[in-house]
Parts: sequence; structure tokens; C-alpha cells
Amino acid sequence: MEIVRGTAAFPGIAIGEARYYYQAENSEEKNLDASAQLALLSRARDRLEKELLETKTEENQERLWEEQEILHSSAFFKALEDMICSEKVHATYALAVTEREMEEAFGGLETPFIKKRLQAMNRVSERLLFILEELTRKTSFLVRPGIVVAEALTPAQMISLEKENLLALVTRVGSEVAHSSIMAKSLNVPVLADVDVKSEWNGKLVIVDGYTGNVYIDPDAETWKEYEIRRKCEFLEKEALLCLKDEEDVTLDGKQVGIYANIGSLDDLDSVKYYGAAGIGLIRSEFQYLGRENYPGEEELFEGYRNVAEAMEGKLAIIRTVDLGADKQSEYMKIPPEINPIMGNRGIRFCLDHREILKSQLSAIYRAGAYGRLAVMYPMITSLEEIDELRLLEEEVKAELRERKLPFCDDMETGIMIETPAAVMISRELAQRVDFLSLGTNDLTQYTLAMDRQNPNLKDKYLDHHPAILRMIELVILQGHKEGCKVMICGELASDITLTEKFLKMGIDALSVVPACILPVRKVLRSVKISERR
Ligand code: PEP
Ligand code: MG
Repeated sequence: MEIVRGTAAFPGIAIGEARYYYQAENSEEKNLDASAQLALLSRARDRLEKELLETKTEENQERLWEEQEILHSSAFFKALEDMICSEKVHATYALAVTEREMEEAFGGLETPFIKKRLQAMNRVSERLLFILEELTRKTSFLVRPGIVVAEALTPAQMISLEKENLLALVTRVGSEVAHSSIMAKSLNVPVLADVDVKSEWNGKLVIVDGYTGNVYIDPDAETWKEYEIRRKCEFLEKEALLCLKDEEDVTLDGKQVGIYANIGSLDDLDSVKYYGAAGIGLIRSEFQYLGRENYPGEEELFEGYRNVAEAMEGKLAIIRTVDLGADKQSEYMKIPPEINPIMGNRGIRFCLDHREILKSQLSAIYRAGAYGRLAVMYPMITSLEEIDELRLLEEEVKAELRERKLPFCDDMETGIMIETPAAVMISRELAQRVDFLSLGTNDLTQYTLAMDRQNPNLKDKYLDHHPAILRMIELVILQGHKEGCKVMICGELASDITLTEKFLKMGIDALSVVPACILPVRKVLRSVKISERR
């Protein structure tokens, strides 16, 4: 038995088969079906060819011509195909290796022609890797229940997993507030980060302890038995909490505070109901945009939101407009590479640059609002100008819906996420413009401390209980209330039961947490007296 220690990012115990998630370009996985890999490569090549033709303009034609030359270069592709056939490796891996070998062979030459050709080869390889990665992801990975072990997983990769078979998530890169962890938490499975994962674990029996952060590989009989018992006890404890499912979210001295659910996919609607959430405080709408080949159209979005509105039977559901960019992107979005994507053109900045995308989402939300109680919320706000522009855009969208004679909700509540220090500092003015504020403490912590929320090397320094964060939360509640705005927390801090009492005493109006955390938070809430001195 091997025991490896990591960081516990979400509690729970899982026992099952490890499934190592090969990141194709650095995966040395062998004995694959070579003809399938060749077919994949050919699909990627065709797609890139099409893309080059579609994006051709006067200015970029020389550059594109160089790239087309590479795409048609028989030497480059022959080397690639030979490697796939002889070693039976991933097309992506063969591509990365072939590119590296070409660099090593010709990179030292000063000839301008060779240099240009190598640069074009790099650009083509980069695009192909991206496309191949997307195409590969569509093939089934978790065909039976398993524990996913990976170096790191992007939100798009998470979305493509067969969720019903996910028993636990174990990654090297990541943290409690990384998006992949948050998605696994919504499925109520244990999550570990900062684990020294190994591909040799693939297929082995492992135990994941989401309380201590330990992973047991090939556990001995005694450990296995002990964990089977612990898993059963854990199940019973969780069952016992279910008696709170239909209880009110009210403190001992009678203050009503909503405990809402955060969801990242329509599949999570069942657990929202199962745990008796007061409503949905955050729908991360990215799930409809990632892991696909094109932006979803208004009708598709509308159908999804109408589903939510109807399923919630009169309870509130807050849809956050799509927060794309940084780690949440797909190839078709063609977001240019950024040196620092976390600080890049993301969230509302991206949407205001691509107004048509935002407009179709808003139309879909307003239309679905005719079927239940929905609210709209904007991510990553940093200025008053942004929200003023958004309010005008909302009117534009509504006017178009009137013209199209479609039913829609004309008086939907609007909120914004407070997840940048700038938004905290102008929260009073922002509150004058909207109906509610929602503190996104994951990003707020990341931007306030200037520490990447998913960097495992910062795990001891990334302190979400930092006094700066707690004071910011208090300030936003105060400023929001001055303007009659409701203030909630929808970042991961909302589920930290060591802070529930503090938040209640600060005057928070609602907390929104992953469904599995609703009952533990409700239990604490119902035992607190807000009127007691702090
Ligand atoms: C947050 O930043 O706290 C938040 C809720 O948004 P996300 O985790 O999706 O970035
Ligand atoms: Mg955020």
C-alpha cells in the first residue's frame, strides 16, 4: 500500500478504481488505436485548414499562407504519422514530440527562411494541439465509476466527464476554489489537490480521504475495511442532516436568511431540491458554452433557463451571465493568447466586447423569466460605466423582444458580483444601480491578495479569512444596505461554517453554497442568535 498526502479541498470518502486523465500532449500512453489517432489528426487538420480560409484578410494573408504551407508539408506530417503508427501514441503527443524534434534540428540555424518556417510550424502546432485537445475530450473517459486522477483539469475538461461515474477528484494543480474543484463539489464527491499524482495509479484501487487529504493506493485489507466502515458512517451522518431539508432558514432570534444553492449545470437541479435549497443563488452559466464547437444560440439558452425557472416552482434562481476567459474558454471563442489570462479580457469585459453574445443570453434569460422567478447577475464588474452600459443594453434587448412579440419578464431583478477590490470600493454607487450585490469571495480573495486561486504552492498563503477580505465583506454589506440592496455571498467562503455566525452578525441577507453544503450551513444558522454582542 502506498500513502500519498495532499490537501483536502472537499470532504468525503471515496473507494474505487483510479482513472488517470492523460493530458494528451504530454501523455506517453501507448498501444492506442493508431487508425483512430490518424483519423483524429486528419479531422484536426481539416478543421484548421477551414479556419485559415475563413479568417483570411488582406493584412494576414502572408502569415496564413505560411501556415497553409506547413499544413500541406508532407515532411512534417509524415514524421507525425510515422510516430503514431509505430508507437501507437496520442496524435497530440506525437505532434508535441515532432514539433520539439524539428525545433532541435533546425532551431539553431540563422537562415531567415528556416526561421520563418519554424515560427509558422509553432503557430500551426499550437492551433492543432488546441483542436485535437477538444476533439479528444469528446471521447468517453469515465465509462464506469472511478476516481479521476489528473495533473490538472480545466472547466471544459470537467464538463466533458461522465459525472454520474465520478467518485472523487484528485489533482496535482488546483485548490479548494479552483473551478474544477467547485464543479466536483457540486457533485458532492471528495476533492484533493496538491497531490503528487502518478500515471501508474491508473486502474488500481484507491481510497480518497477528503478529510485528511490522504490517498491510499492499493490499500491493505485492514485499511480498506476501516474506510468501508467510515464511508457508511459518513453516509448516515449526511442522512441525519436531511431532517433539516424542509426547515426554514431562520436564526434563533427570528432573522430570515436565505440559504441558496450554487450550480454549474442543469444536472445539479436535482440536488438543489434534494437538499431543500431556498433557491439558486448562482448559476454558473458557462456550462452551456464550454466543451462544444460554437456559441449556443438564444433558443438553446432559453430552453435551459426555462427548465430552471419551471423546475424551481416559484423559488428564485439567479443566472450569472457567462464568465468566459481565463481558465474558461473553448477553441471556437478564439480568445487570443494572453500573458496573464486571470487578469485578462474576461467576464463582463469580454462580453461587452462581444455584445451579440451577451444580448442573446440576456434575451434568453428575460424570455425564460416569463416561466418562473429568475434574476440576472453580472460577473467581474469593476466600474460604474460597465453597469450603466449594461443597463442600457438590457433596455435594448427588451425593446427587441417587444418588437418580436415574445413574452418576457419586464421587471426582473438585476445584481452584480462583487469580486474585485474595485467593486468593493464603489459598492455604494453600484448598489444605487442594481437590486442586489453578491460577493464572489473566490475571485475577491485572489485579486485582493494578488495570489492565483488555483496555485497549490500558495495553499498556506492564500488566506480567505484574511482580515482584508472580512473587512471588505462587512463594508459591502454596509454600503449595499444603505442603498436598500440585498447582499449575499456566493463564493466558497459562504459554506465555511466557522464564519457563518460572523457573516450573520455582519448582516448578510443570504448565503449561496454548493448543494451538499446547504444543510450543514442551515444547521449552524438555526443555532445562532444575531442579537448577541459580537
Ligand atoms: C467567485 O469568484 O467567488 C465566484 C463565485 O465566481 P467563480 O468561482 O465562478 O469565479
Ligand atoms: Mg468569480
